[in-house]
Amino acid sequence: MKWFDLTGKTAVVTGAARGLGRAMAVGLAQAGADVVLVTNRSSAEEAKQEIESLGRKAVIVQADVSDQQALPKIVEAALSEFGKLDILVNNAGIIHRTAAADHSFVDWQEVIDTNLHSVFTLSQLAGREMIKQGSGKIINIASMLSFQGGINVPGYTASKHAVAGLTKALANEWASKGVQVNAIAPGYMSTDNTEALRNDENRSRQILERIPAGRWGTAEDLAGAVVFLASRASDYMAGHVLCVDGGWMVR
Ligand code: NAD
Repeated sequence: MKWFDLTGKTAVVTGAARGLGRAMAVGLAQAGADVVLVTNRSSAEEAKQEIESLGRKAVIVQADVSDQQALPKIVEAALSEFGKLDILVNNAGIIHRTAAADHSFVDWQEVIDTNLHSVFTLSQLAGREMIKQGSGKIINIASMLSFQGGINVPGYTASKHAVAGLTKALANEWASKGVQVNAIAPGYMSTDNTEALRNDENRSRQILERIPAGRWGTAEDLAGAVVFLASRASDYMAGHVLCVDGGWMVR
């Protein structure tokens, strides 16, 4: 399908060692892209091997995205390895679950640095290259908590609301320059990020009861959406937050 073909494209995916990031990186490679896998502590070796087994190239960059000084080397790696950067997926993210009254500022700050400040700066660094080349796709990973308040996660909710807003702000400025900025809002997906929720019998049941699809999402459920937003099939989309949530938002 030429509309979704990513052959010859270079993608950067942050937080690509496991979970949603890994599945999206593999999905982009399946559509033809070479991938820069950004990871902090977790090993991204398995993701690299999976991508190489598809006949695509993969490079691992070790970087803590909450550290602003670490971000330029991510874009530099894409340019030095592949000569260009076509797709940026801002996926790396963390969550701290503590009631708002007890939420420490340290936890708040760590979440905002990781989930929001990194997205602004990496998008800016990548966006400059994309504007120069006249094309590019930036895909931010938002959340149901880009729309809702959530429980015990004030920092996370603030960060994900801001990611949705930033997606629109960048889309407004860059759509005329051939750079599309959109977001994916995953529903409740079975990854390390949601382990605590799934281990809480009560919360887990409440969540499942609200999902029209009748199941938690899997990381692979995002692969099609990310390929769509990375491909020319979505060239006329800008600032959209695409829910991939089994229907959670429409219930
Ligand atoms: P996960 O915990 O399984 O994976 C997160 C990845 O990000 C890991 O590979 C981790 O190493 C990496 N990471 C974390 N902090 C980093 C840092 N400072 N620098 C570099 N890499 C870092 O979580 P996930 O569920 O795969 O989450 C991925 C994204 O999806 C996050 O932005 C999360 O908020 C978002 N999300 C997840 C869900 C869900 O239900 N799982 C729902 C909505 C949004």
